[in-house]
Amino acid sequence: MNETTNLSVKAAQAIILQHVKALAVETVGLEAALGRVLAELIRANRDQPPSDVSAMDGFALRSADLLREPGAAPARLTVVEDIMAGDRPVKTVLPGQCARIMTGAPVPMGADAVIRVEDTRSLAEDMVEIGRPVDVGNDIRPRGDAMRQGEVVLTAGTEITSGVVPVLATVKCAQVRVYRQPRVAILATGNELEALSAAFDPEKIPDSNSYALMAQAQELGLEPVLLGIARDDAQELAQFLRRGLDYDVLLVSGGSSVGVHDHVRPTLAELGVTMHFWRVEMRPGHPVAFGTTDRSLVFALPGNPVSSMVCFEQFVLPALRRMMGNRRLFRRTLTATLAHPLKARPGRTEFVRVVLTRGAGREDSPAWVAASTGNQSSGALLSMAQADALLVVPAACAGLAAGATATVVLLDGGAFQSEPGFEE
Ligand code: AMP
Ligand code: MG
Repeated sequence: MNETTNLSVKAAQAIILQHVKALAVETVGLEAALGRVLAELIRANRDQPPSDVSAMDGFALRSADLLREPGAAPARLTVVEDIMAGDRPVKTVLPGQCARIMTGAPVPMGADAVIRVEDTRSLAEDMVEIGRPVDVGNDIRPRGDAMRQGEVVLTAGTEITSGVVPVLATVKCAQVRVYRQPRVAILATGNELEALSAAFDPEKIPDSNSYALMAQAQELGLEPVLLGIARDDAQELAQFLRRGLDYDVLLVSGGSSVGVHDHVRPTLAELGVTMHFWRVEMRPGHPVAFGTTDRSLVFALPGNPVSSMVCFEQFVLPALRRMMGNRRLFRRTLTATLAHPLKARPGRTEFVRVVLTRGAGREDSPAWVAASTGNQSSGALLSMAQADALLVVPAACAGLAAGATATVVLLDGGAFQSEPGFEE
């Protein structure tokens, strides 16, 4: 194996992404499109709204009718028509007249403004009094305000969020062209491991990595398959790995280090996987390897539970997102202030599990304060359960002082907070 070793996180990400492209395109119904990525450009097929419509329940009128001398009596207008949403107005509004109009209803000929009902006083069924003027165009949504026919409204590579779904519905995209989702297989390795379904044995180590990786892939909307646990035996491992290579992406945890029973990398190579790199200068996560066949990506992830999860975050996630057609491959980062000093050993990029809270929000300091979740051992499973984000300590850095600023990478649940967080 002549793979590159001891590279930086970014160099490793770059090598991975050189080998990844978006998968083939397929068609899904709009009901199943959430979380998928558009593979086509979408244009508006109509003006929306289709005509000038009222933005309020009120009266459509001629704004000039409301211009009065100071101290003059309020204007009185005759109501000549009732227009509901979906109606087509039949009358033209003449001077001294208005039409009762509902939100979304077309503005009748002759009217150039709408006044909301709360600013009027009804004198009779067909007579309304209005004591204040309105500008031309008041409370009218002009034709094509939301979208114009022929306009590009969505481009390929757009993730279909809850904001995108109604746009697709508006342009009548009942069937959407999206990128196919990667098929992901997950394999655990190690003689010491106990399957979730196996009888409890106090001597064994419960397999948590399979479920960590499963959940991380599920967070992306994928449906990963668990292949089970392979023992540290080259032949048994080869059988499992062969099955895994039928998938678009194979995630193997454990057995990728330097121990004499760490067979994963040599066995992958024997099965024809081209190994591109091994070992990245990061903590946790050092013994991570990446390889490809002509149809699969293979990630040999470290066995330590936190290392495996952090390597998924840094390496597997951007690859899967690119396969899914996304343009945005990386999680959002923020700047946070450290709540306490942090020691670090220089030489490797460190990812520290942190909890984020809102700071005092002083203008000269970032609004977020980061505090360690505690035990940062690569086996400390609870540190990931509690973390909102991974705080990045650059490789050259020997530690950070309390109050220092640092970049944090949000984890999925870290995009939420306990309070709305805005003033109004
Ligand atoms: P390895 O990379 O195989 O040397 O494993 C490193 C550490 O991670 C060992 O303490 C293993 O017991 C542990 N480990 C490996 N695989 C898993 C797994 N699937 N679930 C939980 N812990 C694991
Ligand atoms: Mg092992």
